[in-house]
Amino acid sequence: MELDQDIQYLKGIGPKKAQLLKKLGISRIFDMLTHYPRGYEDQSSITPIGELKPGEKSTISGVITSLQEKRAGRRNMLILTAMVSDGTGFVQITWFNQRFLKAKLKPGKKVFATGKVEFAFGGQGQYSMSQLSSFEIMDADEDETKGLGILPIYPSTESLNQKFFRKSIRELLNSVDTIPEVIPENIANRYRLLPRGDAFWGIHFPDSFAKVKQARNRLAFEELYLIQCGLMMLKKRTQEKKQGIRHGLNSVIVDKLMGSLPFELTGDQRRAWNDICNDMESSVPMRRLVQGDVGSGKTVIAMLALIKTVENGYQGALMAPTEILARQHYEGFVKQLEPLGVKVALLSGKLTKKQREQIYEELAAQQIDIVIGTHALIQEQVSFNKLGLVVTDEQHRFGINQRAELEKKGTLMPDVLVMTATPIPRTMTLTVYGDLDVSLIRELPPGRKPVRTFVRTLDRRELIYKFMRDEISKGRQGYVVCPLIEDSEESNLLSAEAVYDELTHGIFRDIPCGLVHGKLKQKDKEAIMQEFYEGHLKLLVATTVIEVGVNVPNASMMVIENAQQFGLAQLHQLRGRIGRGEYSSYCVLVTDGKTEVSKERMRIMETTSDGFVLAEEDLKLRGPGQFFGSMQHGLPDLKIADVLQDIDILLEARRAAIETMENRVDLDYVLPILELQYKEHFMNITDT
Ligand code: ADP
Ligand code: MG
Repeated sequence: MELDQDIQYLKGIGPKKAQLLKKLGISRIFDMLTHYPRGYEDQSSITPIGELKPGEKSTISGVITSLQEKRAGRRNMLILTAMVSDGTGFVQITWFNQRFLKAKLKPGKKVFATGKVEFAFGGQGQYSMSQLSSFEIMDADEDETKGLGILPIYPSTESLNQKFFRKSIRELLNSVDTIPEVIPENIANRYRLLPRGDAFWGIHFPDSFAKVKQARNRLAFEELYLIQCGLMMLKKRTQEKKQGIRHGLNSVIVDKLMGSLPFELTGDQRRAWNDICNDMESSVPMRRLVQGDVGSGKTVIAMLALIKTVENGYQGALMAPTEILARQHYEGFVKQLEPLGVKVALLSGKLTKKQREQIYEELAAQQIDIVIGTHALIQEQVSFNKLGLVVTDEQHRFGINQRAELEKKGTLMPDVLVMTATPIPRTMTLTVYGDLDVSLIRELPPGRKPVRTFVRTLDRRELIYKFMRDEISKGRQGYVVCPLIEDSEESNLLSAEAVYDELTHGIFRDIPCGLVHGKLKQKDKEAIMQEFYEGHLKLLVATTVIEVGVNVPNASMMVIENAQQFGLAQLHQLRGRIGRGEYSSYCVLVTDGKTEVSKERMRIMETTSDGFVLAEEDLKLRGPGQFFGSMQHGLPDLKIADVLQDIDILLEARRAAIETMENRVDLDYVLPILELQYKEHFMNITDT
C-alpha cells in the first residue's frame, strides 16, 4: 500500500465514507495517517460503579439494563436515559438530543463511558453521568473488565465517529509493514529522532503520555523540516533560475535624494537601507522583506531603493494594495523625484484606453523610470524595457503567485522588496516568509505623538460622539469603525449602515459624513475615500476596509464600535490610520466585552503602542489558527507543529534544513518527498 494512494484502498472505506472523509480534508491514505488526535482519553483505569464518587471524573464499563426515552421542552428535545450495571451498582447515563444514538443503544449492550459523576435527581445513592467525554458501545466479544488504555480523540463528525477513526487508523498502521522514512538518515541520527513508524504508532495509540510527547516532537520536527526545505529550495531556485542584477554603489541621484529629505533616517531605517544596498549590489537576486509598524517610514526606503535601480539604468515598479494608496504614493514620489529628473507614472484604473496605452509604450521604451499601480501592474500586458526592482507594499494582500507573476516581466531576474506593516512574531516570519530575508524597522521617527487609546463601555457613546463633534468643529476629521456592514438577525453587533443612519440623523445631522464598506463597488468606495481625503467629508463611517489605503493627516479621531470583535493586530492597524499629522490623536475602543480575555485584550491596547508586542499577545490570546489563517500566504497548513510552542523545534528543523541544502545526497533524498507531500505548495521546485 502506497501512502499517496486514494483513501478508498483502505479496508472498510467505500465511496460514501470517502466522500465524508473528503469533507475533513482526507483523500489520500497519508492524510488519514496524519489525521492526528486532538486529545486523549485516559481509560486505563476503570472504576467499579459501586466505588464511584460524586464530583470525580471516572471511567466505567458495564451492561445496559434498561432504557428510557422522553421528550421535553418547547423544542421537543429528545432525552435518552440508560441504566448501566457492572454488578457492583447502577449508574444512570443521560444524553440530550443525540438522535443517532437511539437506534444503537439496546439493553444487553456492553458500554464504556467516561464522564463526571453526580447524584441523580431525587435519589440519594443513585449516581448519574452526563456530558460524557467519551463513550463506546463494545462489540460482544470485547472484554469489559480490561481498560482501553489511552484512547485517541479525533476531530470527527456525527457520521464518522471515534470508533471509526480508531479502527481505520489501527488497521492502516497494521497493514503497512514499514512506514517509509522521509528524513535523511544522518539528520535523523544527529537530531535523535524517533523512527517514523514508531512516531505514528505513538501519536495514535500511545502506551503513555511520555510516548505522546516523543512522537509529537518527532512529527512536528518532520513537518517543519520539510516546509523549511521547501522554502529554501524555492529561494534557491528563483535565485539560480536567472542571473540577478548587480547594482552599482550609490551615486549622484541617491545622494541627492538623501540630501533632499526633510529628515534624517532613523537608525532602523538606515540598517534596512544598508541591507537593501548589500542585496542590490550582489548578483544574487534580492528577496527581502521590510517589516515595520505603521508610520515607521517604509515608503522612503522603497523610494531610495527604486532610485538606486533607476540610477543604474533600470526601471522600477511599486505595487500598492489599493488605488488610493497607489495615488498617494504617486503624488509623494512626483514631488520628491521630479526635481531630480526621474519620470514617475501612475497606472491607474481610471485611465482611458488611450492614456493607458501611452503608458505601456513609454514603459517599453523606458521613457518612464518608475511606475506605480495596483494589481493592474501585473494583470495587464505591461512590459518593461529593463525591470530592475519590484516593490510590493503591504505584501499580505498579495499572494506568492502574484509576486512571481511580476518577476517574470524582466529578462534579468529583478530584485524584489516586500514591505509589510503586519508585525509578525519571529517564529511566524520563519514559517511564513522563510523564503525571504528580513529587515525590521521597530523605531518610529522622532517627535511622533502616539495615538492615545481609551477603552469605554457602551453607555458612554453619547459623550464620545460629542467629543468627536467638538474635534470636528476645530477642523479635524474622524473615523467610526463597525464590525458589520448591515444589521443582521444573528447578531446584535453594530453595523456601519445603522451607525451611519443614527449619526447622520442625530448628533452629526449638519456635518458631511460618508459611509464605506466592502459591499460598495470599488469605484464608489474610492470616490468616497477621495472626498474624505480632500476634506469635504468630515466623518467616515466604515468597516475594516479602511485598514489599509488611506493616509489623511488631518484625521485625528477614531471610534471603534464593538471593539472586542477585532484582533489586536487588526485594532492596531486600524488605529494606525490616525496620528499621522501634527495633531493629538484619540482612539476610543467601545466595548461591552465581559470575559476576562476580552478585558485583558482591551487593556493591552490601551497601554501598548508597539505593534510587535501586540502581535505576540494576539497570538497568545487567540492561538495561531486565526492569526495564520488571515495571512493568505499560500503555504501548507501545519497539521501538528504549533508556531507558538514549537519555536525550539522550529529552530532545530531550520538548522537541519540548512544542513540538508548543503548536502547533495541528502537533498536528492528529500526532493522527491517534498514533491510528493507538498505538491501544491512547492510545485516545480524540483525541476532543474
Ligand atoms: P509607513 O511605514 O506606514 O509606510 P510612511 O513611510 O508613510 O510610513 O511614513 C510615515 C511618515 O513619517 C511620513 O510622513 C514620512 O515622511 C515620515 N517619516 C519617515 N521617515 C522619517 C524620519 N526618519 N524622520 C521623520 N519623519 C519621517
Ligand atoms: Mg506605507
